[in-house]
Amino acid sequence: MKYCTKCGAELFDEAVICVKCGCPVSPQYAYAREPQKKAPKTSGLRIASMVLLIVTLSIVALYAGLFAFVALIGAFGGEDLFVMLIVALIFLAPLAWMIPMLAVYCKAVKRKSPIGVGLKVCILIFFNVVAGILLLCDSEEEQNESVA
Ligand SMILES: [Zn+2]
Repeated sequence: MKYCTKCGAELFDEAVICVKCGCPVSPQYAYAREPQKKAPKTSGLRIASMVLLIVTLSIVALYAGLFAFVALIGAFGGEDLFVMLIVALIFLAPLAWMIPMLAVYCKAVKRKSPIGVGLKVCILIFFNVVAGILLLCDSEEEQNESVA
C-alpha cells in the first residue's frame, strides 16, 4: 500500500492517479510532467573571467615578445645574449600553460558545459587570481554541475 504524496490518501500500489485528489502518483508520470529544464545560460561571471584571462594572456604575451625583442637588440649591441634569452624565456614560459588552459576554458564556455573545480583552481593559481575566484564563486555553475 502506498499513499498520495499530496493529500495522503491510501492508494493501490498500481495506482497512477490519486482517486481522492486526482494528482499523479507514479514517479515516472510525475517526472514526465515536470517542466523541461532550461539550457544553462552563460553567466556573467564566466564572461568576466574569460575577458580577464584574455587580458592576462595578452599582457604576458606582450611582455614576452618585448623581452625577446630587447634580447635580440641587446645581443646586437653586445649585451649577454644568454642572460637576455633566459629573461625572455621566463616571460614566455607561462604561455606554455596559459594558452592551452584558455583554449580549454573557452571551449567549455562555448559548449556551456560545466567547468571542473580543478581547472578553476589551476586558473586561480597559474593564470589570474581574480578570474579563478570569480569562477569559484559562480554558484550557477555548481548547480549545473550537480544536475549533470
Ligand atoms: Zn491525493
